[in-house]
Amino acid sequence: MDYILVTRPALPPLNEYVEEIRTIWENRWLTNSGPLHQELNQKLAAYLGVENLALFANGHTALELGIGALELQGEVITTPYTFASTIHAILRNGLTPVFCDIDPETLTIDANKIEALITERTCAVLGVHVYGTPCDIDKIDKIAGKHGLKVIYDAAHCFGERLHGAGIGQFGDISMFSLHATKAFHTVEGGALCAGDAALTAKVDRIKNFGFSSEEEAEDVGTNAKMSEFHAAMGLCNLRHIDDYLENRRRIAERYTERLRGIDGIGLLPEIPGLTRNYIYYPILLKKPYRLSRDELKDCLAEQGVLTRKYFYPLVSRFACMKGIDPGDTPVAEAAADSVLCLPMYDTLELEDVDRICDCIIKHGF
Ligand SMILES: *Cc1c(COP(=O)(O)O)cnc(C)c1O
Repeated sequence: MDYILVTRPALPPLNEYVEEIRTIWENRWLTNSGPLHQELNQKLAAYLGVENLALFANGHTALELGIGALELQGEVITTPYTFASTIHAILRNGLTPVFCDIDPETLTIDANKIEALITERTCAVLGVHVYGTPCDIDKIDKIAGKHGLKVIYDAAHCFGERLHGAGIGQFGDISMFSLHATKAFHTVEGGALCAGDAALTAKVDRIKNFGFSSEEEAEDVGTNAKMSEFHAAMGLCNLRHIDDYLENRRRIAERYTERLRGIDGIGLLPEIPGLTRNYIYYPILLKKPYRLSRDELKDCLAEQGVLTRKYFYPLVSRFACMKGIDPGDTPVAEAAADSVLCLPMYDTLELEDVDRICDCIIKHGF
């Protein structure tokens, strides 16, 4: 059987990549902020509409080192409805995650429930723009301002998105983009951190390179989390095609929405005024009167050769490594983890396949 996969990485034509890495053979500059890294850094900052951008070996270390650079202590209010990385980045900085429930529409942190969780140990709020849907940025800003908290965004899903014209990486003290192979734009492995402040960007740039501030001085305790020239080259190639990739995703998402909208029992991504989505995922949320459970629909689609993903399931707060950490009271997040299914979504998915998937969902659900 020919399977339809849930995702497939975008790739530029091979000869374009070969052309892009030719200069590496000429100058023998393989990593450590080479010319391709510098070019990508500058072009991505412009594309993302942010002033200060630092590139990393992957999104997770961008987030972990970005949080480290803020020099926080105590508790970080966040949500369990996310990828494991978000919470590991908190814990690996010696901080304690405090789990807040999510909004049932946007599936992002419920800003109305944040203040009740604030204690004298709270130092930050870490929101995740889940599936590219922004958190309630204005409300979180107000709460953070009132209580003197830092604001951190896991924007791993949000590459290229704009909210009322502003690059989504502009919000909060720091925002992280993942440039992993499965994201809407990638450098094979890679990540980017946007900071409101140039000094903080310089600091994370040092930390990713052993803390070096000059050839003979290390100002910070650092690590190695640099992006190589080969990864930057992939980014430069993909950036030339990004408008096509995103346009294809938009067409695919529109077809899904056309077919599935207005069906009782199938919830779709919310419409957010002023948001340009990248359609990184196409999640559906199943509820009554839809006949099948999420897991039953997943199996039913798999029998037809359509692979889907329970994303996010289980909640991060349920992992074995979270033993000893209060999972909090998050019934909305629990319900979402049990009812969301991400359908196949990638730039080269055929519209006929989208129709086949929708036929199957509709036929078996009622
Ligand atoms: C992909 C992802 C990450 C981690 O990014 P990597 O580049 O894979 O390290 C973190 N948070 C979320 C929500 C993600 O989807």
